[in-house]
Amino acid sequence: MSFVVTIDGPSAAGKSTVAREVAARLGFLYVDTGALYRALALKLGAGGGSVEDAEGIERMLAATRLDLSGSPAEPHVWLDGEDVSGRIRTPEVSELSSRVAALPAVRRWLVRLQRSLSERGPVVGEGRDLGTVVFPDAAVKIYLDADPLTRARRRAAELEGRGIRVPLEQVLEEIDQRDRRDRTRAHSPLRAAEGAVVIESSRLGPGAVVEEVLRVIRAHPGCPPPAGGPRTGSPPPGPSPRSGD
Ligand code: C5P
Repeated sequence: MSFVVTIDGPSAAGKSTVAREVAARLGFLYVDTGALYRALALKLGAGGGSVEDAEGIERMLAATRLDLSGSPAEPHVWLDGEDVSGRIRTPEVSELSSRVAALPAVRRWLVRLQRSLSERGPVVGEGRDLGTVVFPDAAVKIYLDADPLTRARRRAAELEGRGIRVPLEQVLEEIDQRDRRDRTRAHSPLRAAEGAVVIESSRLGPGAVVEEVLRVIRAHPGCPPPAGGPRTGSPPPGPSPRSGD
């Protein structure tokens, strides 16, 4: 297995910002696992499917190709050959993604895909269960947290930056619901992995968190030397092999 860094934590804790910067600085692949759950939610929603329909979900997975490409600064997620990077960031997809993520069949399928992505080189991955389930042998495990109001403010600002205006109370409610679902689900619930370095970022700027994560990674004896430049995933996908089946 490549050198793997996992960054887990609740919604809007700053995982993406930190993981992307760390991956760019080290020349590692950046793997946004939430984007994979979001892409499956997008497909399910667009096709009028239901999370209650186990057979329908199995059929959908068998007919799905998912891949990541781009750089940490400009990552892309590909669903059945289409770049859906922008379309997966709506509040509706966020909501559906945490219900899709509770399905064991979906998790199994995506665990295989996430592990195959890590074969492309040293990885910084961010998600909910990377240190606990997907990469239990990861070299470095981080758990990034922040209080709910701070996280809601960050998410509201991020949405606003993309032209989506949502009242703060609504964002807080959405984050709270999603986190509760992620923490209480039977399969791969969100929690800090054993041995994870826990960083509480409510009072830290992203730069300070990045420096702390880099310090932990560089202190690891297996940390590979900096590569030629930042990378993410594979070259832009043509017809990519079916993932996960
Ligand atoms: O991180 P992001 O907000 O994009 O994730 C969307 C949803 O995907 C989360 O609310 C969670 O339900 C699910 N997820 C997961 N495991 C991961 C990454 C994301 O269950 N490793």
